[in-house]
Amino acid sequence: MISMKNVYKKYPNGIVALNGINIEIKQGEFVYVVGPSGAGKTTFIKMMYREERQTSGDIVVNGINLAKLKSKRVPLLRRQIGVVFQDFKLLPLLNVYENVAFALEVIEQPQKVIRKRVMEVLDLVGLKHKARMFPTEISGGEQQRVSIARSIVNTPKVMIADEPTGNLDPETAWDIMNLFEEINRRGTTIIMATHNKEIVNTIKHRVIAVEGGLVVRDELGGDYGYEI
Ligand code: ADP
Ligand code: ADP
Repeated sequence: MISMKNVYKKYPNGIVALNGINIEIKQGEFVYVVGPSGAGKTTFIKMMYREERQTSGDIVVNGINLAKLKSKRVPLLRRQIGVVFQDFKLLPLLNVYENVAFALEVIEQPQKVIRKRVMEVLDLVGLKHKARMFPTEISGGEQQRVSIARSIVNTPKVMIADEPTGNLDPETAWDIMNLFEEINRRGTTIIMATHNKEIVNTIKHRVIAVEGGLVVRDELGGDYGYEI
């Protein structure tokens, strides 16, 4: 469902962030992307939702050929992919409910449908009772739960997470992982870039290690493989 062939990415400043990536990820997989800082992990995952474009090579996501995808059709791709960031990226002036409903409002769903779906995902992440709170009024872990709810409200086939536990204390990080496990059990493919050695070595999944813009390791149930 996600395939990359000979993907190469050179930024305008001349830095080659990806140097020939070949990878296949199947529907329903859970994949950790690991590697040192500057290895190309963020660039690799940004390619999947067209946050950055490849310089050359082929990328196909859910049957969509990204090299041929016109800019005006990028929102269509994004609706099939939920994205979760290290710093949550919630809209500060919207409350929890509104942050999650936003993605459905832009595609003009009826209010009744929106309300039902938003409360359903808030229930899944355990935050139904905080629907009226604002991002500044809840903890970091709760903010990350809101961002996860937002990312899955469109029922995407794929969830991409860039260091989702990077700003959280260890206990909260494990809570967030349990949520990811549940979402993955329900059939969503998860691709998660992480530096969290304990999590990767405990909740075993496929590990793709990137170094110098290349996949240097790809193991089912692999270890984190770095000291930090
Ligand atoms: P990682 O996520 O593994 O830390 P990145 O994909 O962020 O790696 O970065 C890979 C390389 O590309 C680094 O050398 C980084 O400085 C560079 N890079 C990342 N984003 C940009 C950008 N927008 N413009 C120029 N260089 C970039
Ligand atoms: P990460 O948390 O993955 O290491 P960074 O903090 O390196 O991300 O990058 C934050 C943002 O800055 C990203 O959007 C990335 O594309 C961009 N960026 C990273 N390195 C460079 C660079 N050398 N030149 C320009 N933009 C960069």
